[in-house]
This record gives sequence, C-alpha cells and structure tokens, in this order.
Amino acid sequence: MSAEKLREVLEFYQDLGFNSLYRREPNVSADTADEIPMPKTSPSPEITAASARIELPGLAPADDSLQKIREDMGDCKRCRLHQGRHKIVFGSGNEQAKLVFVGEGPGADEDMQGLPFVGRAGQLLTQMIEGTAKREGVPLERKDVYICNVVKCRPPENRTPEPDEMEICGQFLFRQLSVIRPKAICALGATAARALLGRKEGVTRMRGNWYKWHDLPLMVTYHPSYLLRPYNQNAKREAWEDLKKVLHFVYD
Ligand code: URA
Repeated sequence: MSAEKLREVLEFYQDLGFNSLYRREPNVSADTADEIPMPKTSPSPEITAASARIELPGLAPADDSLQKIREDMGDCKRCRLHQGRHKIVFGSGNEQAKLVFVGEGPGADEDMQGLPFVGRAGQLLTQMIEGTAKREGVPLERKDVYICNVVKCRPPENRTPEPDEMEICGQFLFRQLSVIRPKAICALGATAARALLGRKEGVTRMRGNWYKWHDLPLMVTYHPSYLLRPYNQNAKREAWEDLKKVLHFVYD
C-alpha cells in the first residue's frame, strides 16, 4: 500500500473515532489457512504455518485491560448500529477466564440489560456450559468463563451484522481476546467463526474442529439460537460433544 493510500485509510479510521489501530493479518487462504489437522480431542501445541505468521499483541498497548477497552469504546457511535441500541453489550465474566465464548451480537434482552446471552439462547448457553461441566466432572460455572459478541450493539430485527460493522467492532473484540488470552476460544455460530477466522464455510462443516485465532486454539460450534429450533436436535447433541472437547482441553 502506498504512503498516500495508508494516510487515507488512517484518516478514515480517525474520522470514525479511532485513535489507535490494531494490526490484523489478512486471511490469506480463507478456505484452508487456519484449520489445524490434529486429533479432534485436543489441539496440538504446535503452531501451524498459518498461525505462525501472526503474532500477538500487534499494536495493542502493553497495559491494556477490559476496563480500558470499555472506556475507549465510550458511548460508541462508530457504526450505524448505535442508532437503535439501548445499551452497549460489552461482555461479561471472568477477566482471567481460561475459556471465552464469542457470539454474534446482542438480541432484544441483551440490548435492554447490557449483558450478553441473557435471553433464551443465553439460558441454553448457561445450561450447556454448566450441564456439560457437571456431567464431565469439571468444576465450572458460567461466571468462570468470559462471554462476549462480535458486535456490541443489537442489529435491527436481529439481522446478521454487516461486514463493516464487524470490522469496526472487531477492533474491540481483538483487544478483549488479546487481554484475556484464554486457553481456548469457542466461536458460537457462523458469524463469530467468520469474524474470527475469516472462513466462509458453514458451521456444519467447521464445528467440532480446532482452528487458531492468532496463536490461541479456537473451536467452532453451533449458535445456541440455532439449537433452540425443535428440528435441530441432532445439532444439539453435536454441540454438547463440541463443548465436552473444549472443556476437557481447557480444564483437564
Ligand atoms: N445471541 C448472540 O449472539 N449474542 C447474545 O448476546 C445473545 C444472543
């Protein structure tokens, strides 16, 4: 990119209210780049060629914290999603969590309460986390993990976030994950998987496999809203299997 083009890009972000940018590597080959060929139960500590090309922390400040990120976000108006929101849904849970769940974006209940996954899908997610943990003998409650979304404001009519909205809000998600540095990330549904991995395949193909977000292991599974539909009972069983894998990897 020429210096002139770079200046234009930086001015564009400055106009949106960003005073600092965080480097994100392009997903060179979105179809195959980050899938890690390894046993399905646990991610290998080896860093694949794809993940080795990316280093954390990019340009994030050394003393970054969730509080600082939230302060930087402020009363965010960087994209159109602010127009219809009641509350920004930043994320909740343990700042030192070993496991982070990333959903798509707040729904109506989350928008009213300012907390992620508190509606029906959220209740199912809680059940999945705590039920699976209990059955597998892992002492874990929802409060022990961290939960957030790709976009922090509710999209109108719960539509899928647009690429520019994900890009803009993705700066904050990048910093959240970089600060927490969990042992694993669980991407809930296609939007989270796409935002974090840049991959275009459907969840059905990606679920149950380990990938990498930068150098951190990432598992893709179904979004709880999808599992609420009565005809998706098979998927529910698969999601439970995925979660079991994640819990054993993180907490064994
Ligand atoms: N769906 C999401 O993706 N996130 C929430 O917080 C709630 C529902």
